[in-house]
Amino acid sequence: MNDSTHPLLHGLNAQQRAAVTTPAGPVLVLAGPGSGKTRVLTHRIAWLLTELRIPAWQVLAVTFTNRAAREMRHRLTDMLGDTSAREMTLGTFHAACVRILRREAEAANLAPNYAIFDSDDQLAVMKQVVKDMNLDDKRYKPRALLNAVSSAKNELIAPDAYPIHTYYDEIIARAYGHYQQLLRNSDGLDFDDLLMKTANLFRDNPLVREKYQRRYRNILVDEFQDTNMAQYVILKALGHEHQHLYVVADEDQSIYSWRGADYRNIRRLREDFPKLTQYLLEENYRSTQVILDAAQAIIAGNRDRTPKHLYTHQPGGDLLTLHEAYDEQEEAEYVAREIRALLRSGREPGAIAVMYRTNAQSRALEEALMKAGIPYRLIGGTRFYTRREVKDILAYLRLVNNPDDDVSFTRVINVPRRGIGAKTLEAVAAQARVQQGSLAKGMMALLHAGTLSTRAHNALLGFASMLKQWRTARENVTVAALIDHVVTDSGYEGYLRDGSDDGESRWENVMALRGAVSDVPNISLTDFLTEVALVADVDELAEEIDAVTLLTLHSAKGLEYPVVFLTGLEEGMLPHSRSMETLDDIAEERRLLYVGMTRAEERLVLSYAFRRGWGYYGSSEPTEPSRFLADLPDEVLGQRQGRRAPQSTPRASWSVGAWGQSSERTAPRPQPEPEYRTGQRVRHTHYGEGMIIESQMEGRDEMVTVMFSSGVGVKRLLAGMAPLEALSEH
Ligand code: ATP
Ligand code: MG
Repeated sequence: MNDSTHPLLHGLNAQQRAAVTTPAGPVLVLAGPGSGKTRVLTHRIAWLLTELRIPAWQVLAVTFTNRAAREMRHRLTDMLGDTSAREMTLGTFHAACVRILRREAEAANLAPNYAIFDSDDQLAVMKQVVKDMNLDDKRYKPRALLNAVSSAKNELIAPDAYPIHTYYDEIIARAYGHYQQLLRNSDGLDFDDLLMKTANLFRDNPLVREKYQRRYRNILVDEFQDTNMAQYVILKALGHEHQHLYVVADEDQSIYSWRGADYRNIRRLREDFPKLTQYLLEENYRSTQVILDAAQAIIAGNRDRTPKHLYTHQPGGDLLTLHEAYDEQEEAEYVAREIRALLRSGREPGAIAVMYRTNAQSRALEEALMKAGIPYRLIGGTRFYTRREVKDILAYLRLVNNPDDDVSFTRVINVPRRGIGAKTLEAVAAQARVQQGSLAKGMMALLHAGTLSTRAHNALLGFASMLKQWRTARENVTVAALIDHVVTDSGYEGYLRDGSDDGESRWENVMALRGAVSDVPNISLTDFLTEVALVADVDELAEEIDAVTLLTLHSAKGLEYPVVFLTGLEEGMLPHSRSMETLDDIAEERRLLYVGMTRAEERLVLSYAFRRGWGYYGSSEPTEPSRFLADLPDEVLGQRQGRRAPQSTPRASWSVGAWGQSSERTAPRPQPEPEYRTGQRVRHTHYGEGMIIESQMEGRDEMVTVMFSSGVGVKRLLAGMAPLEALSEH
């Protein structure tokens, strides 16, 4: 069955249906933003499971963020009306690799409890490297070294294969080698290692590779344009044999090259999979034509791209607003004022997003929103898991899980203070070096040798025996109970709760962490730590609260909001001053703007400030509007005005846009009508016959509540996706 009457193909256009029902074999769906790539991928999975009867555990579906994975799983569960989606591997590349490496730890030559090092941990290790190598940390900045190491890993280059052309390369190669040695001593892997080790495992171990080729007989990837070399190699290792690789991509939305993403993977795919079938999707379901025209005018400025035509059946729409503010504070106040007006006119806060190029830009916006009493949530601010007390407790837990984790060891060995001074630590570190082992091993050896002063010896012994007790306890108690042991035995609770408000609020964070563990009964310590390590910034979105979202353009990928504010559109901000060196840099900045603009469904507001306080000594420097703005056609803006606030009238600001009020404003897009009504009888492929007890539109999707005659009772389903058909009345 391959037509619109099939329930799974409901709510898809002809191009999308063809892509969903394509026969087995390698597939590339190449299409612009909002054309339904993610939707097609989701339907394809449902199609595989129901029509082609593929068991869910044979499916590996990869998304760009954990949040996107959660959403997709949710949709699939609604669509299929059962929990079979749970058995499938659905998550980021990193999450999939973590699972594989845990299971294949032995083959991959890893400790089964290996720790995952986050970016702070990585920095701590690299600082150690710089120290050990006696490097000048002004010239060889740990962060710069880490970037170089990360790029090498994403390209699957081992330390001894690092290409050396200059003295600096030589330093990087050595630093890389030493960094890997320190990680190994700690049984730690950083994020890039997760990919590299998996790719190498598949390369070096044909038995393991074949096992996963058999297991993951169907592989699907969203946002393929932002995969890196390591990820591509993993995909090829798994998919080349059976050729069941299904990827969706948009080259114009490739915005992660600074993290090693390489949109040339699309070309590699075409070369490596000559049988590749390609599908195009051209109709946009997200944005108004005005927004699409504006976005297409921006992206047309990039060379070497396949021109695409995006259209929507919803012509017209509100014209864009382009606002020049005097400085960033005023820009933020303008945004807050506009948002307040929108809320007053009935918009939900959750319908609004404010985007910017760098995290630091959020501060002014946060202040203005706070003053205006507008609820907001911030993606990528002071994340819960990076707060000091949370990291301390996690370090204790990581140490219980894996005593060789040196970063955690260093973090808590003397927190709270237990009389283990710098000298003792030096001795421990020296001993560890002698043994080429971890600090914990060094500590045990020192205690055994009995060469320390009595005081230092007893202090270390106290720490070592606590650790031992917890390691025994972990076998018998829950992770929550283990946290209780840790905070009591170590004296951490008393240390934190020093009577100050700050102490109490930090203690609340510890309790919140404990709460997070208790939410998942029976979770093992290793699994809990793995999950924590995988929580990306974008997952910090507390989904329940209705609030305005503040986020960087990079984290806006794949998302959509009825109203979008893009702020800070100045030279130096977008394009960012650090990304202006090459034409490629500029092209990527342009794509970033394109991604931001195409998140908007109905209304798009662009703003820039005449001055921004990033100059020397805190002074603010006059800025130029972003070069990209010049590419906006007049039709989408109406008319440009007030290019610049004259310097003689400080704090003057005016809106040059708001043309939306003009006669060109078109009626808001009609909401689609629900297809089912209460009382109607329906049939579901799995659940049999039932009756609609409620139907309501959620965005553009219809959510129905069905009472089934069979034992399953009442289910909430997405009408467009569930295998559901209406029964005739008689
Ligand atoms: P991006 O490139 O930004 O990731 P995308 O191509 O993945 O976008 P989706 O997010 O899948 O696009 O779809 C964009 C919006 O259009 C979503 O709200 C989706 O539900 C809706 N949509 C997609 N296809 C259809 C369709 N055939 N009918 C109605 N709505 C659709
Ligand atoms: Mg998408």
